[in-house]
Amino acid sequence: MNTTHHHPDCLFCRIVRGEIPATVVYRNDHIVAFRDITPAAPQHVLIIPVKHIASLSELQPEDLDIAGHILLAARVVAEKTGILSSGYRLVFNNGADALQSVFHIHGHLIGGKKMGWPPF
Ligand code: 5GP
Repeated sequence: MNTTHHHPDCLFCRIVRGEIPATVVYRNDHIVAFRDITPAAPQHVLIIPVKHIASLSELQPEDLDIAGHILLAARVVAEKTGILSSGYRLVFNNGADALQSVFHIHGHLIGGKKMGWPPF
């Protein structure tokens, strides 16, 4: 594994490295998908890039492939968790107003229940 972009103290980098246990549902060379420790719905999986990027606001043009890998992984995880046909959300909380609490990009894949809109 390329650890060049890992931050020693980042919680999610530590999950990528296996230093903190997590229920991993899917991973490849670019992303890790694991169950949220405080699920907001029957299915709640976090999809994170292996590379440490603090937030969507920090994404750079060279991260285009990473952004694509997150979206493609969401479809794979939706299939693995049985919500591909019933529907799901992919939510990125970004910054203070959105209540981002962990500063390593993560998409919340949420499903398994009928949701409302708007989400706030
Ligand atoms: P945010 O608030 O930044 O959008 O989402 C962070 C998410 O990470 C929260 O839903 C929270 O429950 C989850 N989380 C925080 N710490 C841990 C942990 O140690 N393990 C796992 N699996 N999820 C965590």
